Amino acid sequence: MRRVPAASQAVADLGDEKVASVSQDARRARRAGKVVLQIYRESAAYVAAVAESQGVTCRTGCSHCCKLPATSTVPEMVPVVEYLASRSDWKKRRPALERELRHQLAEFATVDVLDEGERVAFFRRQLACMFLKEDRCEIYSLRPAVCRYHMVVSPPANCEVGPEPRPIALVDMQRVENTVAIEGAKALGELTGGPIALAFVLAADLLGVELDVDRTLLDRVTNVCIAVRAHA
Ligand code: SF4
Ligand code: SF4
Repeated sequence: MRRVPAASQAVADLGDEKVASVSQDARRARRAGKVVLQIYRESAAYVAAVAESQGVTCRTGCSHCCKLPATSTVPEMVPVVEYLASRSDWKKRRPALERELRHQLAEFATVDVLDEGERVAFFRRQLACMFLKEDRCEIYSLRPAVCRYHMVVSPPANCEVGPEPRPIALVDMQRVENTVAIEGAKALGELTGGPIALAFVLAADLLGVELDVDRTLLDRVTNVCIAVRAHA
């Protein structure tokens, strides 16, 4: 993945004066989003040190992992929604984003994630992330924890989906990832999330950012997530 700088700065620049004019839901969403950003900042030096000491092989321009289904909690998507919706090209960008959201939600709604065969087939289909543009992450500095802390020490080529699975050696960053989920949930008052597209739409709902997506589809994907959690 190639780096796209300054997104988090753009969020910071939004300022608190906007908070006064928004709903209670938007306030707690913004609060949770800020908590998440703070953990990202605080963990950055630790993550860099781990990458250095363990010889992480992830490199700029490598994006096999962005073609696998990724998940996010809602607080992690709050800064992303704010960033995109505050950009001057939001009106122009929105129809394509909505099309992508509908596509992603439709794909996730069709898969029975409780069926291992379907789950594996879904992974192998390589549904590229909606934020992956020409092998670069459009929201790199605001990417969710699952992407931010996903690091390997195995050859990057092993991450590519091929006819035969190849060994992937992950660096264990579960503790930091869990901290983002737990602290974000505490600030929001609920633990909610799912596929990135679902978390993005739920975050937009809280913030009052309108998106044209099929609510039935949203419910279907939400139900899949609930079913997964119930069987976890
Ligand atoms: S996890 Fe694999 S695919 Fe993703 S950046 Fe690292 S080496 Fe590349
Ligand atoms: S949010 Fe960015 S880093 Fe994460 S899967 Fe999507 S494109 Fe890749």
